Amino acid sequence: MSTIDDVRDRIDIVEVVGEYVALKRAGRIYRGLCPFHDERTPSFVVYPDSGNWRCFGACATGGNAFDFVMRVENIDFRAALEILARRAGVVLAPPSPAAAKRESERDRMLAATAAAVDFYHAQLMRGAAADPGRAYLRARAFGADVAQAFQLGWAPAAGTALVEHLTARGFGPDALVAAGLARPREGGGGVFDLFRGRLMIPIHDARGHAIGFGARTLDPDGVPKYLNSPQSPIFDKGHMLFGLHRAARAIRAGGVAVVVEGYTDVIRAHAAGFDNVVASLGTALTEHQVKLLKRFAGVIVLALDADAAGQAATLRGLEVAREAAAGDVVPVPTASGMVRYEHRLDVELRVAALPPGRDPDDVIRADPETWRAAVAAAKPLMAYLFDALTADLDLTEPRGRIKAADRLIPVIADIPDVVGRSAWLSRLAALIQIDERDLAARLPAAGGGGRGGAPRPSGEGRRAGGAT
Ligand SMILES: [Zn+2]
Repeated sequence: MSTIDDVRDRIDIVEVVGEYVALKRAGRIYRGLCPFHDERTPSFVVYPDSGNWRCFGACATGGNAFDFVMRVENIDFRAALEILARRAGVVLAPPSPAAAKRESERDRMLAATAAAVDFYHAQLMRGAAADPGRAYLRARAFGADVAQAFQLGWAPAAGTALVEHLTARGFGPDALVAAGLARPREGGGGVFDLFRGRLMIPIHDARGHAIGFGARTLDPDGVPKYLNSPQSPIFDKGHMLFGLHRAARAIRAGGVAVVVEGYTDVIRAHAAGFDNVVASLGTALTEHQVKLLKRFAGVIVLALDADAAGQAATLRGLEVAREAAAGDVVPVPTASGMVRYEHRLDVELRVAALPPGRDPDDVIRADPETWRAAVAAAKPLMAYLFDALTADLDLTEPRGRIKAADRLIPVIADIPDVVGRSAWLSRLAALIQIDERDLAARLPAAGGGGRGGAPRPSGEGRRAGGAT
C-alpha cells in the first residue's frame, strides 16, 4: 500500500473537514456551509463512506481529503500530504540526500528572489535613478499604494547593482544565476544583473512566495518589451498565474476567477477593486493553470480582446483549457448504496468579449462598469465557440453550412455528458438547417458511447472516453 493510500485510509474525512466547517449529520452524510464560497443555506456535503466531499453550490466542486486541505489551506499536494500524514500518525519517508539538497537549493533561490524584490522595490520608491519607473506609473495612474501592494520595483541600469547588493548579503554567484537574477559574463569574470533599467513586477506562487519577475522596458526601442525570469526550479511560467496569491481569497469567496493576459491588466483590476483577476503570463491558458484555478473556482471567465477572439491561436488555447476543465470520472455513491460513475465537472469555462482593440487595463480605467458588465455577460464556452467558429461563414449558403458542421461537430463530440451533447447538436441543426439525425450520425460516439452518466470503471478516465 502506498503512503498516500495509507494516509487516506486512516483519516476521517468528517474530522478533517469538521475543523473548518460546522457539519450536521443527515442520515449517512454530513452537511455544512461551503468554506469555498459565501452561502447561507448549506450546499456542502461530506460522504464519510467514500471519504469524499462536494459543493453543490457556486463552486460545484468536490474531491477527497487531500483536495480539501489543498484548497482550504491554499497549499500543494505535498504540503497537504504532510498535514494529513501527521494527523494519521503515518511517518513519511525522509527525503533522500539528493532531494534534501534540491530542497535547500530551492529555499536559497526563494530567499535570493525575496531579497531582490525588496531591493528593486526600495529602488523604485526612493532610488535616484528610478525616475523613469516612477514617471511611467504616474502616467498610467498607478499610485504609490499600488506599487506597494504589488511590490513593484526598479532594476537600475548599471550592470551589477543587484549582484553587489545580494553578494553583500551572502548570496554566491551560482545561487544568483540559478535563481534567474544574474548571468555569467562571457569569458568568465563574475556575473552581472539579468534585469537592467526595467520596471520590475514580482511574480508569486499561490502561497505568496516571490518566484520570479516580469520586467518591462520603458525604452520605446527596448526589446523585448517584457523580459520574464528564465525557467528555473522555482519559476515555471506555464504553472503560474500572476496575481493568484492576492486573488485567491476573492476567487474562493465568489467561486469565479477571471483570467486576463497582462500584468498591468491584473494590477489595474485589483486597484479598481476587482480582486478575482489573474493573468496567464502568455496568450493561452495552459492545462496546469486551469488545474491550479480549479482548486479555487467553479467558474473561470476568460477575458478576451474581441479582435483576438476567433483567431486560431486563441481557439487552440481555449481547446486546451476546455480539456483541462473537464473533470475526471469519479465514483459517486447513490442513496441506495450503489456506486455510479459520473464526470466530475470541476469548472465551467466562460468567455467575456471585450470591446475591440481594448485590453482590460484600458476598459477598467475608462469605466469599471463596462468591465463588470462584460464579465457578468460572459458566455459559456460552447456558446462562444458557436459564434467564433461560424463568424466568417455565410450560413445561407450550403458551403457555409457544411463548413459550420465540419468545425462544430468535433467540438460537440467532445462534450462529456449526453444531455449537453444532444442539446448542442439540436442547436447546430437549427443553426444550419440540417436534420438533427443526419448530424448525429456524424458524431463518433453517438448512440453506443455510454459516456456521461453510464456506469464504467473509473480506470478508463476521461482519455479513454475521448471526453473533455
Ligand atoms: Zn461551494
